[in-house]
Amino acid sequence: MYFYYGAMGSSKTANALMKKFSFEEKNRKVILIKPNIDSRDGKTVVKSRIGLFCEALTVSQTEKIKDILAPYETLDIIIVDEAQFLTASQVDELRKLTDSGVMVMCYGLKTDYMGKLFEGSKRLLEISDSIREIQSMCKCGRKAIINARYKGRKIIYSGEQIDIGGNDKYIALCHKCWQNGVL
Ligand SMILES: [Zn+2]
Repeated sequence: MYFYYGAMGSSKTANALMKKFSFEEKNRKVILIKPNIDSRDGKTVVKSRIGLFCEALTVSQTEKIKDILAPYETLDIIIVDEAQFLTASQVDELRKLTDSGVMVMCYGLKTDYMGKLFEGSKRLLEISDSIREIQSMCKCGRKAIINARYKGRKIIYSGEQIDIGGNDKYIALCHKCWQNGVL
């Protein structure tokens, strides 16, 4: 089980989609999963900022991974985009699949706009075999580590972890720029 984490804009999705493509070229059965925080069922299209896109199965927080994978008999690799939104028990399910021979590669954010771990990321850090960082840069040139939430030019430090349907905007910043309070 692999966990690739990085701040927003670190091309995690592009990396995930390139991995999927290269495994499929070698005739591996690959499934792309995306947690769906607003609980609509079915399929969605995962898009990367550089223009790559691919259809993915969605899983809501109340669904079991094994239920959404039930129609797929043989499976070599599961790739998860936005893995921070998995629940801890969904990560545990993926861990069991890894133990039964499926390769699982999760891509996601490590922490939220307050610098706190997401539930899925916390569990992934605890039980992944391999944890790798995908680095990206703050506007000042330092390493970006926080996905700052902002309104206007002001950085916001409190509120709900996930603001579904909100107009919040995010930018990846280094710790110093995040503490400045304004963009
Ligand atoms: Zn900075």
